[in-house]
This record gives sequence, C-alpha cells and structure tokens, in this order.
Amino acid sequence: MDRLRQGQALSGEVADEIRVPAHALALQACRRTVLKSALALVAAPLLGRLPAAAGATIEVSEIAPGVFVHQGRYEVQSPENRGDISNAGFVVGDEAVAVIDTLGSAKVGRELRAAIKAVTDKPIRYVVNTHMHPDHVFGNAAFKEDAPQFVGHHKLRRGLDARAGTYMTSGKAMLGDDAFEGCEIILPTVEVKDRLTLDLGGRTLVCEAQPTAHTDNDLIVTDSKTDTAFLGDLLFSQHIPTLDGSLRGWMTLIDQIEKRQVARVVPGHGPHAMHLPEAILPEKRYWAVVAADVRALIKDGKDLTDATKTAGQSERGNWKLFDQYHVRNVTSAYAELEWE
Ligand SMILES: [Zn+2]
Repeated sequence: MDRLRQGQALSGEVADEIRVPAHALALQACRRTVLKSALALVAAPLLGRLPAAAGATIEVSEIAPGVFVHQGRYEVQSPENRGDISNAGFVVGDEAVAVIDTLGSAKVGRELRAAIKAVTDKPIRYVVNTHMHPDHVFGNAAFKEDAPQFVGHHKLRRGLDARAGTYMTSGKAMLGDDAFEGCEIILPTVEVKDRLTLDLGGRTLVCEAQPTAHTDNDLIVTDSKTDTAFLGDLLFSQHIPTLDGSLRGWMTLIDQIEKRQVARVVPGHGPHAMHLPEAILPEKRYWAVVAADVRALIKDGKDLTDATKTAGQSERGNWKLFDQYHVRNVTSAYAELEWE
C-alpha cells in the first residue's frame, strides 16, 4: 500500500513525511491513510525514509532531521492496542538520544526502544515525560536498562505518587494481564522547576514547566536544532481534549502557545507533526464552547446533570472519542466554573 501522507485532509497537519510500515496497524488508521492517498493529487516531498526497524512492530516517522515521532491510535486503552494510543518521540544528537514520552505499556515501550535502536546506536540518556498520564509514562519501564535520567515537571513526582495505585489498578483492568505485564510507575530523577536544557551533543532540548492546564505537571519540550516543540497533551488534534487540571489555566496557556514561533509542533494525540496556530484552533474553540455553555447554565441555575446533557454538544461531530470523554470534561469544567 502506498503510505505517503498528504496534508489536505487536516488543517495544520504537516504533510512532508513518510511513515515506516508497521506490522500491526489499526484498521481505522489504515483506512484513513488510504483515503488521504486517494485525495492526494501530487506526492509531497519526502523528508526521510527509515529502514524497516528490525524487531520493531511500531512505526516511526522522521518529521525533521533527527526528530522521530510514533503516532498512537485514536482509541481508549485495550488489550488489543496495548496502550499504543498516544504519540511518543525521540531526538538523536551527536552524543545521545532523548525519548519524549514512552507510550502506554512496557510492551509498546519496548517496541519504541527497538525502533530507536534501529535508527541509532547512541545511548539513550534521557527519558522525558510531558505529564503523568499512564498512556504517556507506562512505557518508561522499557528504558530502565539504559539507566537514563527520567525528566519531568517538578510536580510530576507528586502527581504520580498520589495516583500510582489508581493508575496500576485501572491500567491492569483496561489493558488486561498480558499487555499490562511489566508496567510500573517510574518517578522522575530530574525535575524541571521552570526551564531545563538537556545537551544531546550538537543540539539541545529545552524543557519548560507549565502552569496547571491539561494537568498540573505539563512540560513543553523543544528541540533547538529543528525548532520542533513537543506539546504533549496541551495539544490534542482529532482526539477530543481531556481535562485533568484547570480549564481556565489551559485556555490561558493556549492563547500563549498559539503565538509560539516554532517550525512544527507534535501533539500528544493527533498527527505526527503540525503547524501553529492552525493546529491548536479546534482545541481552543472546543474549550471556549464548553466554558461558555457551562457558564450560561450555571447562571441559569441549572445543575450538573443538566449541564452534562447540553453543554458543548455542538462539538460532538468534531472529535473522535467524544462519547468517552466529553461528559467528564463538562463535569470538571462545571466544578471549576461553579465557584467563579
Ligand atoms: Zn494526558
């Protein structure tokens, strides 16, 4: 199958890339790619083609020189997808490699590691987590043998500590015994108070701790050489955004992120690479609609049950997994905005 990806289908998506064939592909993703290829009139320029990774069963794309991204499926964790539902990346310097998020199980984490080893034999010196959610951190265990520094927001340790029991229990329930095997909570060994620079040799990664938004421990990681910003779950595309921090904080942060001058951004859920500001506009609109609807309902004296039935329903057709997360988002928004 021709797996060239074209940019017409999605505003803000970066078109010039090629994906490495994977052994296990979601049927849905497959269909989407076929559709995109069918819509395409001209082939986009190729940025980089990777050799098929020996032993790796997940695909990665080189979105900029030395910057690789694996795109997860738009799904909830299951035994079948083994937690391969978020984006993860790695950046290869002259001396070392940094991994940015590790997917949602030790098993897919190991496949990500195999994909890295197929690209470079440089040591994996850093594993950076953009935030605490299990679909981004459960793969950390696969990198223990590399003895890297685990890097995270200064509130990541507290967040993971507080939720470790819940994350392990719900992870096992959602992934099943087989896919969950080897998952563990690994706490950061290096904490980002405000801003921290990691030297990979010939390029640096700048890690910036953010105020409470998607969670209270969101980190933005920017590669200096290619001006590529990994936004973690501060940016959702196609996959409905999910709120586990502060709605007002996130809306304020989106206004700042939108103005960032970077060559490309990598969402926590969405395409491999996208452009600002287009990439973040749907998420900005979603939260504006939810906030306006919830505020109006509160003003009218409506309770939470009423709010979950009507607030933000105009966004239903715009997002994948709307039914799985929207009511939770409205519930969190209501709890926060009730006290304004
Ligand atoms: Zn998240």
